[in-house]
Amino acid sequence: MKKPDRSSWKLDTLLVHSTEQDHVTEATGMPTVQPIYASTTYLHRDTEALDYALGGALPSGEQAYAYARQGNPNAHALENILCQAEAGAGAVVFGSGMAAIHAALLAAGLVPGSKILAAQDLYGTTITLLRKILMPGGVEVVLCDLYGTDAAARIEEEQPDVVYVETLSNPLVKLIDLDTISAAASKVGAVSIVDSTFTTPYLVRPIEHGFDLVVHSATKYMGGHGDSTAGAVISAKNALLDLLRTYANMLGAMLSPFESHLIMRGLKTLTLRMERQCDNALQVARFLQRHPAVECVHYPGLPGHPQHELASRLLEYGRFGGLLAFELKEQSRAAAFCFMDNLQLCLRAATLGDVYSQVSYPPIASHRNLTESERQSMGITDGCIRLSIGIENVEDIINDLDQALTSS
Ligand SMILES: *Cc1c(COP(=O)(O)O)cnc(C)c1O
Repeated sequence: MKKPDRSSWKLDTLLVHSTEQDHVTEATGMPTVQPIYASTTYLHRDTEALDYALGGALPSGEQAYAYARQGNPNAHALENILCQAEAGAGAVVFGSGMAAIHAALLAAGLVPGSKILAAQDLYGTTITLLRKILMPGGVEVVLCDLYGTDAAARIEEEQPDVVYVETLSNPLVKLIDLDTISAAASKVGAVSIVDSTFTTPYLVRPIEHGFDLVVHSATKYMGGHGDSTAGAVISAKNALLDLLRTYANMLGAMLSPFESHLIMRGLKTLTLRMERQCDNALQVARFLQRHPAVECVHYPGLPGHPQHELASRLLEYGRFGGLLAFELKEQSRAAAFCFMDNLQLCLRAATLGDVYSQVSYPPIASHRNLTESERQSMGITDGCIRLSIGIENVEDIINDLDQALTSS
């Protein structure tokens, strides 16, 4: 069979055929799915070959394996496909989203005395990582609102070494202006990092908007089935890749062959799931907007959302993601608990991006380490509920929300 020219393929096609390229043709036939290489060590023809493998590559430049922590064929295949999907120069996969974020921050050059400017509404554990691990190591951490029109001015004023943002904020789904932020970061010589977990390469590819590093919790939409924990960093330039690989190896954060396999399997249906989840989310947002028990809905796909125009420009296919938040008319913890307990289909789960619809209450989940006044200042009220919309029939999702709102 002729080797296919993958460079012309669209994302959907690429992801479906992602596992075929890497294995040897055997007389017995070639598996269409890459086998799981459950081996920690790799044997080589002779000691010279082992020497090359321990160095990471053969004289031909081909990848060679010696020890699974330094890299394994399943992780490597996943790295190749993520690199293509994000239009990067290379990718490294990690044992979790947090391990990926940690490695990206280190690779970006955060050393004692350096400064990171980050969006204040970041994923809670990322803020804790900055505060508990990087700040004690002498890194200056500045958190501020980077969703407004003065974001570029803030970056210029602070002169940070690293700028860190998320494509969509949690839980209020505010969209970051990727082009403005990357241009401002580059102007002050800062490395720009974006966590693109909520949007995935289906909706936007931040490297095409000037970002240096893109991080993902592949635990969410990429895996998509709630059965694997993984992370990835995709780099726009070759220069940072060696460092990322070194951190994966030295910190023991490499993704295992089994988990790599599960994420690869999830990726095959990523675009189908995203289509369905985005379309369902828009219908749910429109339904909630009209519901008498709902105060307001936060979803960039609604024309009233402050960044609806930006979202229409930045995100592809006229789709706006599978996450939304809304506020109950009765802004209290008791009302929120009652609503959540009344749900019969949507799962009360601390994660998002899976095939099933999930509901979360930020004050006890992602934002539980903040005080009530800190939450209020970020716009997160006691009536705020976050929904991650799944691939179920949208009428069933809407009926479930309706009965839970009405009986609350
Ligand atoms: C879940 C999540 C993470 C952390 O990923 P893990 O795989 O749980 O380590 C980071 N960023 C965002 C936006 C997330 O949703």
